Amino acid sequence: MKPLENKVALVTGAAGGIGKATANRLLQEGASVLLVDLNEASLKETFSELNSDQAAYFAADVSKEEDAIAYVQVALERFGKLDIFFANAGIEGVMKPIQEYPTEVFDKVYNVNVKGTFLGLKYAIPVISDGGSIIITSSIGGFGSSPFASAYVASKHAVLGIMRTAALELAPRKVRVNTVHPSQTNTRMMQDIEKDLGDAKARETFAAAIPLGRYAEPEEIANMVYFLASDQSEFITGTTFRVDGGMDAS
Ligand code: NAD
Repeated sequence: MKPLENKVALVTGAAGGIGKATANRLLQEGASVLLVDLNEASLKETFSELNSDQAAYFAADVSKEEDAIAYVQVALERFGKLDIFFANAGIEGVMKPIQEYPTEVFDKVYNVNVKGTFLGLKYAIPVISDGGSIIITSSIGGFGSSPFASAYVASKHAVLGIMRTAALELAPRKVRVNTVHPSQTNTRMMQDIEKDLGDAKARETFAAAIPLGRYAEPEEIANMVYFLASDQSEFITGTTFRVDGGMDAS
């Protein structure tokens, strides 16, 4: 029997690099997975690539309350329950110093990264099985800082507060809540940041600051999410997991 057989997972941002790699890993380990993303075209493409009869998809904007209600409902209708919730959808915003940072972009980043996480938990918590697991994608920026990314950094700090609060509220039901904190990972998001910085050497510079000397691959983040979703981590809640190639040591 596979480790996640009979488990139902919901993954947001599932059409992106980390979401797709994680959905794939959870499916490989035996779970049924509802893929949720704003980008319907990429979502459909991801669904066909994953090519699994244990997967389903639903297009939704995590920052909208009615969409959060709907995607949780779809998971229940399609698979009958919910055991694992990976709140992963996120956006970067723009790379600008605070004095030039557009307020409307700040609001947008907060709406997706913070309110989107809050809404997902708000509607997943009442229905998630006792003993379930919630994993939220923060970032190494959720501990420290990253110049020109004030909205993103603030949003990734903020989700730690949601995670810690939820961990204590849900401990009586043995539902665990943790965050993962990737360093630069090889996905569309980093390609966009590199472009936005307008520096052809941005990738080289970022990679040079990582002791292991390279970006993470999305599958390496998925390894950690899988661990936190599985019973291997059943005594772990309310805490943070860096997948950062050694950056915490430097
Ligand atoms: P990505 O851009 O490949 O994927 C993000 C996905 O989220 C996209 O498919 C996008 O359509 C979806 N999305 C955006 N807004 C949404 C919304 N309102 N509702 C539903 N879906 C929405 O990037 P990724 O690197 O896979 O990012 C996944 C998570 O990892 C994000 O929370 C990001 O902040 C975090 N993260 C990424 C890195 C990195 O270097 N790539 C590092 C640390 C943390």
